[in-house]
Amino acid sequence: MTAAGTIIPAKCLVLGAGVAGLQAIATAKRLGCIVSAFDVRPEVEEQVKSLGSKFIKVDNFDEQETSSQGYAKEMSKKYKDKQIEKIHYASIESDIVITTALIPGKEAPKLILNKTIREMKKGSVIIDLAGIAGGNTEGTKFGEKVEIENILIYSPKNLPSLLANDASLLYSKNLLNFILCFSEGDSSFNLNVNDELLEKSLIIKEGSKTKNFFEE
Ligand code: NAD
Repeated sequence: MTAAGTIIPAKCLVLGAGVAGLQAIATAKRLGCIVSAFDVRPEVEEQVKSLGSKFIKVDNFDEQETSSQGYAKEMSKKYKDKQIEKIHYASIESDIVITTALIPGKEAPKLILNKTIREMKKGSVIIDLAGIAGGNTEGTKFGEKVEIENILIYSPKNLPSLLANDASLLYSKNLLNFILCFSEGDSSFNLNVNDELLEKSLIIKEGSKTKNFFEE
């Protein structure tokens, strides 16, 4: 709002409301956008709404969207079709789309199709943060800016290097907390291989490659 009148706020759509998505929602909101967000995990609805964003969901669907470890899981074709339709209508209303949807270890789901891009408002921008896993947008080229019918698609490479000091501090803090889970006092480690965290990340045990790590 200015003394000369009110500027219409931009509409921002965020796909995937995990670590990066929630931060994108909060930042877009702080900059004055009208924000909507989509995630397959129903439990993030409350977090998304608490940041002042609308939560878009696929209605009347009983499918379990979350794996036993709390991550998103691969959805059925029927769910995906409904999801793509919802995202299509939300995207063509938006000026900015930020995509962060990812399932650990899998190729990123394609959520924005060429058909949707062609119907988006000219001059809109898609920031595809899932580029490292193939991108959530058809036409994404990891590390490049691509323009399709006046829509800019940008999938930035190595974002942490732009904030190297902060990224290193966060990474080292996470590593320290991870290692402390297995530490007993100052000098020894209690390697309980039944611990879920350790079980999923142990690569070599007693000289052999572990099954859990290499088979998933
Ligand atoms: P995350 O696992 O915390 O979040 C991914 C989210 O995507 C989850 O909430 C998951 O439920 C959701 N999701 C999975 N499939 C979906 C689907 N089909 N539709 C909608 N939502 C779906 O991961 P993250 O750390 O937020 O990273 C996501 C991407 O952003 C990665 O490519 C990462 O490299 C990039 N990135 C992350 C950060 C960061 O600080 N975490 C910074 C910059 C870029």
